[in-house]
Amino acid sequence: MLLKQLMEKLDQQKDRIIEIRRYLHEHPELSFQEEETAKYISEFYKAVPVDSVETNFGGQRGVVVTIKGAKPGKTIAIRADFDALPIKEETGLPFASKNEGVMHACGHDGHTAYMLVLAETLAECKDQLKGTIRVIHQPAEETPPGGAIGMIKAGVLDGVDAIIGIHVMSNMKTGQIYYRSGNTQTGRSYFKLVVQGRGGHGSSPHLANDAIVAASSFVMNVQTIVSRRINPFDTASITIGNFDGKGSFNVIKDAVTIEGDVRTMSPETRETVETGVRDFAEGLEKSYRVKSIFEFTNDYPVLYNDPEVTEHVRKALEQASIPEVEAVLETPPQPPSEDFAYYLEKVPGCFFYVGAAPESGEAYPHHHPKFTINEESLIISAKAMAAVVASYCDGSST
Ligand code: MN
Repeated sequence: MLLKQLMEKLDQQKDRIIEIRRYLHEHPELSFQEEETAKYISEFYKAVPVDSVETNFGGQRGVVVTIKGAKPGKTIAIRADFDALPIKEETGLPFASKNEGVMHACGHDGHTAYMLVLAETLAECKDQLKGTIRVIHQPAEETPPGGAIGMIKAGVLDGVDAIIGIHVMSNMKTGQIYYRSGNTQTGRSYFKLVVQGRGGHGSSPHLANDAIVAASSFVMNVQTIVSRRINPFDTASITIGNFDGKGSFNVIKDAVTIEGDVRTMSPETRETVETGVRDFAEGLEKSYRVKSIFEFTNDYPVLYNDPEVTEHVRKALEQASIPEVEAVLETPPQPPSEDFAYYLEKVPGCFFYVGAAPESGEAYPHHHPKFTINEESLIISAKAMAAVVASYCDGSST
């Protein structure tokens, strides 16, 4: 049986996955600058019997690998991202980042490590596979517009029946796998407002037009969108993270720039928030006689897991009885946004979570300078993905 063989082969590779992860951890690269990592990935495949390796995919640093089974069947895409973050590592690990100010603080090093070894293992078993496996090594997940868009435009999903992705999670217990059907991770939008008033002397407000006062009312008003316009059983968050009102205490400010972040769990809510924020921005012109220059940009969409594929994944994970996995559980929605959502807008699929909390000590959140993962999660990820792929592509029994 294919799955049994995959599991045995992966067991022999456990230490190698960790070794690769540690190498990648030492050599992190920022989104859209992952030259060496992309090279490392394509070099890896030189000794692997895959059917094709496409580098610089879509004019980016993506690497797409095709493994064709001996028998015809579905085409399943599996994706791992490989970029790091502009964070100065403070883990004190012996394999900590050697690139000053850059860190794998989201576990993408782990994603790439398990995926490489899994792809090799699948390639070695391809006489037993039916269908085609497309391995997507994706750059630039962390920085909008994200790497996924470019990969899709270049055709990475052409002919793909389903796409599967994994994220290791430092806040979930190692040994547990979590899934969710439907809307699973938030969509994200960005807005920028320039409030243009007229500068003047603090002693003569009537001769000026105070941009700080107008902008402040905007800050307070947009918070009523969540409380007054969104169904209380739905959810949204609006954060103004930048308010550029710096000046002199007795000078009336002529212009203020505001930047904000919006998270929502459905396209409809996102639209309600956009309309609300825009209304308040435009309303300033009438109420305060300032000029409002407003832009609202949607980036990563809400991540929607197809119910049918998710159920297939859940069953495959349960039936695989992976020894290192004590439970496969449903998770509540997850707050972060993730550009895997773009793939899921195009083809049905499932993005699920592998627990990676450290065995002892504090589990630092993703993107924290002390973020780390339990490396046991890597063999679990490899086996979990193997179980899902085998459930679609086991040609040995038919
Ligand atoms: Mn991530």
